[in-house]
Amino acid sequence: MIQSYISNKAKVFKSPIHGYGLFALRRFLKGEIVAIKGGHIIDEKTFARIETKVDESYIQIEDKFYIGAVKKSEVRGNKLFLNHSCNPNVGIRGQVTFVAMRNIKPNEELTYDWAMENDGGDHWVLQCNCRKTTCRKVITGDDWKNPVLQRKYRGFFSAYIQERMKRR
Ligand SMILES: [Zn+2]
Repeated sequence: MIQSYISNKAKVFKSPIHGYGLFALRRFLKGEIVAIKGGHIIDEKTFARIETKVDESYIQIEDKFYIGAVKKSEVRGNKLFLNHSCNPNVGIRGQVTFVAMRNIKPNEELTYDWAMENDGGDHWVLQCNCRKTTCRKVITGDDWKNPVLQRKYRGFFSAYIQERMKRR
């Protein structure tokens, strides 16, 4: 399915972090599903072609595979609007399910740390504006290798990254 699932307890509003973001309307308990990503399975070749056209609606799900929209018209129903934060309240269970890492109160913006999902290496860079005291300012696709983050997000990394951490 191209459409992603977003809990009816969450809604998209303008975000102080970046553009639009997903916010809790009602409270989430730790472990509760916030969203499930849908979309096309996107290989590297396709990714290179669509990356700049789909408004960062994709997420990475395996080495060299992504899931998300491939056409602009699919973005609105596909994008989860989960902004990056260096002090997030949402993590990943499996590869496409986003769950509350802790209890979340109404009106909190729902965020995850892109280190949980992206292994784009150091050519993939995001300037962070999350304003948390733990803000790394510059986020890269190598951040999942950071031992501090590995401890902090244990059990909340995408399964393919979690597998890789076991092998290192
Ligand atoms: Zn930050």
